Amino acid sequence: MKRIGVFVCHCGTNIASKVDVRSLVESARELQDVAYAADYQFMCSEPGQKLLVNSIREHDLNRVVIASCTPRLHEETFRKAVKAAGLNPYLLEIANIREQCAWVHDDREEATRKASELVSMAVAKARNSSALDSTRIPITKSLLVIGAGIAGIQTALDVADNGYDVMLLDREPTIGGNMVKLDKTFPTLDCSA
Ligand code: SF4
Repeated sequence: MKRIGVFVCHCGTNIASKVDVRSLVESARELQDVAYAADYQFMCSEPGQKLLVNSIREHDLNRVVIASCTPRLHEETFRKAVKAAGLNPYLLEIANIREQCAWVHDDREEATRKASELVSMAVAKARNSSALDSTRIPITKSLLVIGAGIAGIQTALDVADNGYDVMLLDREPTIGGNMVKLDKTFPTLDCSA
């Protein structure tokens, strides 16, 4: 049986000033398989993470949706918390209601409606998620860069500086791409070759 927990973050006033978090929690409670929904001031804080861990245990949740900021910021934080509560960390979904709602909409009602739809989509995704394992796969530390123009040359140099073997390939007999066709470049008037 799916038991999804939904946690809505205020982010201080970052989210709460533009999105009606209380009504978001209320609408989340109506969604299929949602067994628990709550809001909290700062979900990424230590007390916020504790609340998450305790709620997963207390309400026997087996999937989690957090409505907060971009996953680029705290997905890893929440995955660790979910794991600490005994759940597979990939049974977590994030609805980005800060950057995609609160920060880009002035109309509170519309921002709340959009946030509610994002939460609903995240819940649907969480319902269908499966537990995943992470694995390590050995890779060959070498790279082929196709195109030896300026971008290709710079990429090859950057990658080589990081300890990888690099092969630089170009269809022309010389490297430099379009740059070598120029005489001098603005503003330094350096010889482009
Ligand atoms: S989880 Fe994201 S949205 Fe919530 S308080 Fe932390 S930074 Fe703000």
